[in-house]
Amino acid sequence: MKLILLLSKKCNDFRLLVAGIILLTFIFLITLGNLNNSLATTAADEKDYDLKEVKDNVYVVSANGYNVMFLVTGEGVVVIDAPPGIGDKILKAVAEVTNETIGHLIYSHAHKDHIGAAHIIFQQQPKIEIVAQQETADILKMRNDSERPIPTTTFEDNTTLTVGNKTLQLIYPGPYHQRGNIFIYVPEQKVLMAVDQLAPGEVPWKHLAATPEVPALMRSYNQVLAYDFDVYVPGHGETGTKEDIKIQKEYVNDLKNYSQFALANVNFTDATKNIDKQNNAAVTEAYFNALTNVCVDKTEEKWKGKLQGVGVWTDEHCEKMIQSLRVE
Ligand SMILES: [Zn+2]
Repeated sequence: MKLILLLSKKCNDFRLLVAGIILLTFIFLITLGNLNNSLATTAADEKDYDLKEVKDNVYVVSANGYNVMFLVTGEGVVVIDAPPGIGDKILKAVAEVTNETIGHLIYSHAHKDHIGAAHIIFQQQPKIEIVAQQETADILKMRNDSERPIPTTTFEDNTTLTVGNKTLQLIYPGPYHQRGNIFIYVPEQKVLMAVDQLAPGEVPWKHLAATPEVPALMRSYNQVLAYDFDVYVPGHGETGTKEDIKIQKEYVNDLKNYSQFALANVNFTDATKNIDKQNNAAVTEAYFNALTNVCVDKTEEKWKGKLQGVGVWTDEHCEKMIQSLRVE
């Protein structure tokens, strides 16, 4: 009996030992796993931008929702735009693929959120050629902003820029987003960049791509579609194709048709019957709201779930389209 008790105690000790070893092994493996994860996270943190070669020696750098395009030409790099959201990551991305220096910077338009880091490139390459449409240069002279250096080369309607083995066409299609905004077309590689015109898969930005002229925005879809390209590079979001432009064109055409329907069918007297007639602003706003509601209902019925942002900015889009149809 005593022997059995002793054996059973030893057995218990042995079981405890095995359990202890298994536990320690688990703790070791978990610790090792965490260490690996944290090393991987550190590596990902160090590279805080995406770099994609969309065509031979044509690259798109993306960070914080913004895109920059650059071309390696054999005789220097051509960069399009320099958003503060990407900043010095542009220099890192270029250095990742080539030893060539940046010789040209093209401004897609004058807005600070797309070219406000131009000074970072300019400080590194003071002899850089900065190319923009004349109106963009005029705006930047007025802004007098040291972070957006004045262009050294300007053009009116269009120009062709050949650097090394790459040719770019720069085209002013009219103010679809801001006066002076341009298309950057790379014919041989069949790439077209248009900034703040649209983001594939989404409705236009607030107030119809913030355009100063709705007809110019509507014209711009056909103007883009006239070029032979298979990669569309937007200022924000993923690259797209001609299909994305066609969808956008259809959405905006629908806005126009539904706004025209509202203007033809909403009765002013009915829409304003409960409003104090002495209050001009209130009367006008009640009528515009009634028009907008008709356009919103029809647009959402067709487009809900097909483009991101339907139901978020549809009212602004309808409102802007209705005002455009009234005055433009
Ligand atoms: Zn812009």
